[in-house]
Formats: sequence, structure tokens, C-alpha cells
Amino acid sequence: MWAGSVTDEQPSPARFARLWAKAVTGTSFLAMNQEQLEALLARFTDRLGEALRAEHLDLRVGHQVGAGLVAAHLTSAEGLGRTVEVLQRHLLTHLGLDGEAAHERMSRLLAAVATGYARALRNRTLDEQESIRRAAMVARIQAEQALRESEARFRYQATHDSLTDLPNRSLFTERLASAMNRPGWHGRRLGVIFLDLDRFKVVNDTLGHQLGDQLLIQVAARLREAAGEHLVARLGGDEFVILVEATSGVDEVVRVAEAALAAVRRPINVEEHEITVTASGGIVERPTSATTPGDLMRAADITLHWAKSAGRARSMIFDPERNKRELARYALSAAMPAALERGEFYLDYQPLASLGDGSVLGVEALVRWRHPDLGVLRPDSFIGLAEETGLIVRLGEWVMAEACREAGNWSGPDGRSPFISVNLAVRQVHAAGLVDQVRALLERTGLPPQRLQLEITESTMMSSAAEPVHALRVLADLGVRIAIDDFGTGYSNLAYLRHLPVNELKLAGSFVTGLGNGGSGTDERILASLVSLAHALDLTVTAEGVETALQAERLRAIGCDAGQGWHFGRPAPPQRIVERLRCPS
Ligand code: C2E
Ligand code: CA
Ligand code: CA
Repeated sequence: MWAGSVTDEQPSPARFARLWAKAVTGTSFLAMNQEQLEALLARFTDRLGEALRAEHLDLRVGHQVGAGLVAAHLTSAEGLGRTVEVLQRHLLTHLGLDGEAAHERMSRLLAAVATGYARALRNRTLDEQESIRRAAMVARIQAEQALRESEARFRYQATHDSLTDLPNRSLFTERLASAMNRPGWHGRRLGVIFLDLDRFKVVNDTLGHQLGDQLLIQVAARLREAAGEHLVARLGGDEFVILVEATSGVDEVVRVAEAALAAVRRPINVEEHEITVTASGGIVERPTSATTPGDLMRAADITLHWAKSAGRARSMIFDPERNKRELARYALSAAMPAALERGEFYLDYQPLASLGDGSVLGVEALVRWRHPDLGVLRPDSFIGLAEETGLIVRLGEWVMAEACREAGNWSGPDGRSPFISVNLAVRQVHAAGLVDQVRALLERTGLPPQRLQLEITESTMMSSAAEPVHALRVLADLGVRIAIDDFGTGYSNLAYLRHLPVNELKLAGSFVTGLGNGGSGTDERILASLVSLAHALDLTVTAEGVETALQAERLRAIGCDAGQGWHFGRPAPPQRIVERLRCPS
């Protein structure tokens, strides 16, 4: 038993300190060795001794010793218990004190030690809690910071193009939307420039994608520099866009666009190649109140295509009128197939009259579209569209069938029936089945081939492909008449016509307009020689656009065979032709 093992020694403060040290050893984990512990407790013993011997008992010494024990990590319950026990039982003896007063002081001092100990322990616990709390806070802040950094990195990656490091489409869209919605003064405007490299695909295909990428990186850097404070984004591929916020007008945006195009135009060195590329740009500038991001982007995209089709290497400004026209054209061409199904197309017929006796030699079929909303549309407003979409092949087929069917009703007074003249578009002439189609049609309607004339424009005839000429030759061999329409509006080459299966020239109305109203005699002489040349080639000549009796008279005098125009009858429904053939005036 530790308490007994020192009783045979002479009591002294130093011995007491050793006794005390032995008593508490092993009760707590201490950051000091036995010697250091004894030294510490010896100091405490001295202080307690001084306090007990002093005139006035200073309880603060007890508090301090209690706190000192805690500071030395003597914090276990057992350690405190043994301290109290050893102090109570042995301290007075080792200090050489005795008597009731000393015992009473000892008790109070012991209580003070316990109090100091308890307080210090409580403070230490609070401190520990506080430092745990603080450590947790620091950890949280660090975690948040790391998260923010990785979020920022992630957001950067999500909003930037990895090749060029420019903002990408998603960031651009975000910025555009916020620029549009930003509350500002009334009439706030902004501009967008859509840019696209011209023939970038060629660069990619010839130099390879790697050089293509290098080129894009340099173009991106130049655009960023040229655009200054304005946002430049890469939308993908070789497509870029510049956002010009708070503009004063379109001129400002045009200046930015021109600077951007000029920056791209300068030769670029990529590895050992010097490459020159150009870009095209579509510019839209308008008040934010009058548009949406979607509208703006569509308009810019459309304008870019205008710039491309106008020859590239330029920028263009969005033109709402042009856009409206193009949309209307688009709507019209989209509506055409259903219109053909529903029977909205019909034919008017215009006579081709003999300049000799005024009899009807032939009749031209002219197509019209009775549009449910737009009223009757003239062919000039939809034939071009039908050519673009290819619907002209089906539409033309219908026209020819309908015209041949109608022509079956025509018989002249002397049993001679006029031919039906049908316009053929380029696409139709190039279409594979033309010969078969005509053959089948003639068979079905019983119309003699001589009563069908096909009108083809000069340019169609001259088109380099041999196929159309071959088809026309086969048709001519069948007996079908071939006419050159609008002769004189293209590059005429009468000598060349000799080699083609042509029966008739239709002189464009422009030749006729000046006739007989005091024009120079030269026009008339040119016309006269044209007619005699045509006759020398065995071609009949029909003059178009004959509006007056005087014109008809001059044409007759010149030697023209036939005339077509208001003077002889306007395009009209088929009954008019039937009536006219029944009782010619
Ligand atoms: P085109 O073949 O030169 O047809 C003659 C055009 O001149 C017609 O216009 C006719 O209405 C107009 N015209 C007739 N007489 C006169 C006159 O005295 N003075 C004036 N100023 N004009 C006159 P339309 O019907 O508008 O046809 C325009 C063009 O559309 C035609 O020119 C023709 O190239 C094309 N077209 C008409 N129908 C068809 C068709 O069924 N198929 C194809 N592919 N094209 C057609
Ligand atoms: Ca014609
Ligand atoms: Ca014509």
C-alpha cells in the first residue's frame, strides 16, 4: 500500500511531494516523467505549506493548485481522489503542523483545491469544446472553399469551349438572355453577329483536322481581340457569335462585324502553312423590347446565309422585308403539293394567231393557282418555286395532260384544229421519263403528235447536257413540235439552232414593244433579218406580246408568221377558245 510505504521515513515537504507523486502516478496520462512530476508537486507542496502557515489563509492558493493539477493533465477522478486523500492524511504531518486550527485550515484549503480543480476542469472542457467547434468550422470553410473551387472549375468547363477557350453556346445564351431582360431605360438595343468561316471544310479536308483545330484556335484569339469588350462565343464547328450589348444603332454593330471579318482575313500561320480564310457574318440589331433571344438568333442565322449566298467574305444586315418575302415564298412552296392534290391549279388558254388571216394556229396553255387565301396567282410567282422543290415535274405533267385533254375538244371550221402549246420547265426536260410520258399521253388522248407543241427556253436548249437534246430529238421524230420560248432574252445563237430539233421561234415581247410607235428603223430591220434567218432555217416565227393592231401590221409586213398577245386575245378559260373556233370573228 503506497500510503504505508513511506511512513517509516522522516516527514518533510520533499518526501510529501514524492508520496503525492507516487499516489497519482498511473491515474492519468501525463506529458512528463516522474522527476518532473515530483518537482511540480514539490512546488505545489511549498505553496500549500506557505498558505497554511500564513497569518491569513489565502484560499486562492488552493484554487491555483487545483488549476495547476488540471493544467498538468492530472484530470482523472481517481487522481483527484488520491490527491485529496494524500493531502488530508499526510500534508500537515510532513509540514510539521498540528492542532485543531491547522486541521480546520487544512480542510478549507483542501476544499479550495477541489474547487480550483473543478473550475479549471470545466474551463478546459469548454475550451476543448470550443476548439473542436473551431476546428470543425475551419474544416467546413475549407471544404466549402474546395467545393466552390471545383464548382467554379466545373462551371468554367461547362460554359467554355475546350478547344478555343471561348465561351460556348450555353454561356452565350445565358448572357444574351440576361442582356435582354436587364431592366434598363426604355428603347435599349442590342446586336448579334453570327460568323462562319468560308469553306472551312476545305481546309479541314486538305490539311487535316489537327491543322483545322489550330486554325480555329487562332481565329478565336483574333476574334476575341477584334471584338474588344464584346462577348465572343464559339457555337460549334467554325461558327462564332459576337454579342454587342447596349448599342446606339446598327452602325456600331457593323463596325464590330467588319473588324472581326478583317481580323480573320489576315493570313494565319499554322505550322509551316500560311492559310488565308475569310468569314461571312449575319448582323441583327434591334430594340430588346421588340425581340426574343430565339428570334434574334434565327434572324442572325438567316442573314448569315444571305451573306454566304451573296458570295461569302462579307457581312450583311438583317432585312425584315426580305425575310417576310422569303417566308411567304417558303409558305407558298410548302403549300404547293397539297394544292396540286386538291385541284387548285387550272389552265388559261391564249391563242397564237396567223398574221396572214387571223386564224388560230395554236393555243398556249398558261397555268394559274387559285390559292384559297391569296386569290389567283400568276405562274411567275410559283413556277420558280416549283422548279426549286422539284414539284414542277408533277405539276408540269398535270398541265400537259390537262392541256392535251382540253385540246381534244378543239376543231376548226375547216376541220383544221389548232395545236396545243405547253411550256416545259428545265427540270421537266431533264427528267428521265419525259419521252415516255408524252408518248403515253398522246396514246391516251388520241391527240396527233403534230398537235402538241412544247415550249422550251433558249437556256434550257443550250444547257450543256446532251440528255435533254436527245429527248427532244426523239419527241421531234415522233412529230411533236418544239418551240424556243422567249427567243432573244438569252444568248441567242441562230446558227446553233440548225442542229437542234426545233420547229418554231417565239420572239420575246421585248422585240415587239418598240414596233410601229416611231422607234428607230434599226430595230425593225434587225427583226426582219432575224425572221428571214429563221425562215432560212425552216423555223416558223411567232411574235409574243402583240398588244396593238399596229404592232400586228408591222410584224406581218416583216414576215412574221404568227402573233400572240392581247391584240389576238388574252389568256382565258377554255370555253373562249372553243367559242372562237366555232365562230371566228
Ligand atoms: P410565257 O411562256 O412567255 O407566256 C406568256 C406570258 O405573257 C403569259 O404570262 C401571258 O399572260 C403574257 N401575255 C400574253 N399576251 C400578252 C400581251 O399582249 N402583253 C403582255 N404584257 N403580256 C402578255 P403568264 O401567264 O403570267 O405566264 C408567265 C410565264 O409563266 C410564261 O411566260 C411561262 O414562262 C410561265 N408558265 C406559264 N404556264 C406555265 C406552265 O404550265 N409550265 C411552265 N413551266 N411554265 C409556265
Ligand atoms: Ca411560253
Ligand atoms: Ca414566251
